[in-house]
Amino acid sequence: MERERARKNVVAVPSPWDEGMPLLSTAPPSLIPIDEALSHIFSCTNVVEGIENVPILDALSRVLAEDIVSPMNVPPFDRAAMDGYAVRASDTRGASEDSPATLRVVGELEAGSASTLKVGAGDAIRIMTGALLPAGADAVVMVERTRPREDQVEILYESKEGKHVALCGENLHAGEVAVTKGSVVRPPEVGILASIGIGRIPVHRRPRIAIISTGGEIEDLDEGLRLSPGKIWDANRYFIASQVSRAGGIPILLPTARDNQDELTSRLEEGLKADAIVTSGGVSMGKFDLVTRTLDEIGELIFWKVSMKPGKPVAFGRIGASPVLGLPGNPLAAMIAFELFGRPMVLRLSGRKQYQRPSVKAVLETGLKREAKKTRIIAVSLSLSEGKYIARMAAGRHGSSRLLSMMGSHGLAVIPPGREPLEAGSEVDVLLMDSLDNLP
Ligand code: AMP
Ligand code: MG
Repeated sequence: MERERARKNVVAVPSPWDEGMPLLSTAPPSLIPIDEALSHIFSCTNVVEGIENVPILDALSRVLAEDIVSPMNVPPFDRAAMDGYAVRASDTRGASEDSPATLRVVGELEAGSASTLKVGAGDAIRIMTGALLPAGADAVVMVERTRPREDQVEILYESKEGKHVALCGENLHAGEVAVTKGSVVRPPEVGILASIGIGRIPVHRRPRIAIISTGGEIEDLDEGLRLSPGKIWDANRYFIASQVSRAGGIPILLPTARDNQDELTSRLEEGLKADAIVTSGGVSMGKFDLVTRTLDEIGELIFWKVSMKPGKPVAFGRIGASPVLGLPGNPLAAMIAFELFGRPMVLRLSGRKQYQRPSVKAVLETGLKREAKKTRIIAVSLSLSEGKYIARMAAGRHGSSRLLSMMGSHGLAVIPPGREPLEAGSEVDVLLMDSLDNLP
């Protein structure tokens, strides 16, 4: 809808390099805000088809494809929640240290046993935590507040019906939805599914993401090969593949496409065997930046250029139903654009209904310049001081090719556009990265 509205004033966009040759057949919405780009990504990406029934541990970090209805009550029976004595609460009425209730011990129950023992009036059964509550009993008194006396026991306090008893179905009832479709399977979900006896879990297939580097200067890592003059090693394909894996996708590394349209077209067509394609490079205004033009020709360009720095030239489109994310070539810009748009795309393909990146408020340790119209995204590390997060930028330059600034960072500070610099101590949002283990 939005896109159609934005495309209403469609014009052919001439290429500044080849006179008369349109760069794009239509002008996609340009310099859109980050949020708008994100909503295009979500609305134009479909969850992959195919559900796999995998062993419970293989389901970790994947997305549940169906509601899981509990086939049983949890716990499945009334059980002791304490070590002590199973009793009738009414038999302890008025009991105290000075005037204990004396009950007959008629047996012992350990966890895991099923017994026909019954608690009659004036009876107590020694019981361990987790054991099935015997018939007749309605409470468990804790062993710490009893005194054993041969085949009897003194109860030193007045108990109440249901005390220290976990009731059948108290955690979950048979027929209740235990875990909902679309949930990410994490340790709590694994525990809940195991507790209801579900050993195989229906999860969405992991999406396969084709990764294509573009550029005549790009050389793939290959032992024994020396870098020729003018060439650089392909950093992007490897870190993008790592980001894809972290997001739960399966990276498929395709050969590099040099900057010619036939080669790019055939690589993109090859990439259609996967569920989505992520390219890097070739989305700027250079004469050989052919990704946007090719995407426009063989598919549909949904947006090109987002109001952010770095990462502005990022493009997104579709070939058939396959989403294609065109990242900039500069490594830092590519990594940030993947974090902002690629990761949600992979999560959406994996079955997520929505995606909200966790963020925290933090104060800037040092002041910084803003962009008048674009949102600046800056990698920061966080430390905690007097209850506030302090965001520290990596030392040195933050140019789009400087991947170093991402090392050791916890998140991406979002610096809203404005003419005045942001002073030290200003509060900003920091989007947290997926690994929070090293947060202060
Ligand atoms: P481009 O977006 O294609 O104009 O590339 C911008 C810059 O990023 C250029 O300096 C490229 O050499 C560099 N670059 C592009 N692709 C890669 C890559 N796969 N690995 C490392 N640097 C790259
Ligand atoms: Mg290039």
